[in-house]
Amino acid sequence: MISLSDVTKVYPGGVTALAGVSLDIGAGELVAIVGPSGSGKSTMLNVLGTLDRPTTGSVRIDGYEVGRLGDAGLSALRATRIGFVFQQFHLAARVTALDNVADGLLYSGLRPSERRRRAAAALERVGLGHRMDHEPHELSGGERQRVAVARAVAGDPPLLLADEPTGNLDSASGAGVMELMRGLHAGGTTVVIITHDREIAESLPRRVRMRDGRVTFDSARPEAAVSEVGR
Ligand code: ADP
Ligand code: MG
Repeated sequence: MISLSDVTKVYPGGVTALAGVSLDIGAGELVAIVGPSGSGKSTMLNVLGTLDRPTTGSVRIDGYEVGRLGDAGLSALRATRIGFVFQQFHLAARVTALDNVADGLLYSGLRPSERRRRAAAALERVGLGHRMDHEPHELSGGERQRVAVARAVAGDPPLLLADEPTGNLDSASGAGVMELMRGLHAGGTTVVIITHDREIAESLPRRVRMRDGRVTFDSARPEAAVSEVGR
């Protein structure tokens, strides 16, 4: 599903956020990305979600070599294959849950009535069928994140990327959001989650640890990762 090969990212100004990351994630995996603040986790997620381009190296998503796609191709790849969830929810204020989710399908090519139908179905899936007409300020943090998950999955993307999705939630709401993620994984979606929560990370089938812009441990390749550290 995802293949990063020798990916580096140097931000303008000279910060090296990724110092050579190679990582393969297969279709249907559920992976935790862990590591200290500033280790490059968000940068890696943005690069593998095509929100940002690497400085060097190659990124393949669902068979597409990202570096060969122009902006229109990237937008299409993102719109049809990748869902994102962020720590800060990123919902539009003064817009109902239904429209927040439906607007996530703007670039899907679907008609407005179909976008709303799918949005309603996605909100039902996350247990918010009774909150469709609520605006973000009328929802709890956990409910807002459920709306964000509904928006991310309304188009049925094969890949879901989440950057600390439980970071702003109390533990009960966070557990609810994690249940949604597990359900999506069980349904076949490939899910990659950045988390600071040790308990969450340890409960996931695969853990990848980053430090200083490198992968220093990968539970799927324990020996390889150890030799990388020693390099
Ligand atoms: P993490 O998510 O693990 O906390 P990030 O990927 O956000 O780490 O950041 C990695 C490094 O890149 C940090 O040193 C950070 O300050 C820097 N960085 C992140 N985003 C930018 C940016 N847009 N411009 C310049 N430097 C950045
Ligand atoms: Mg981050």
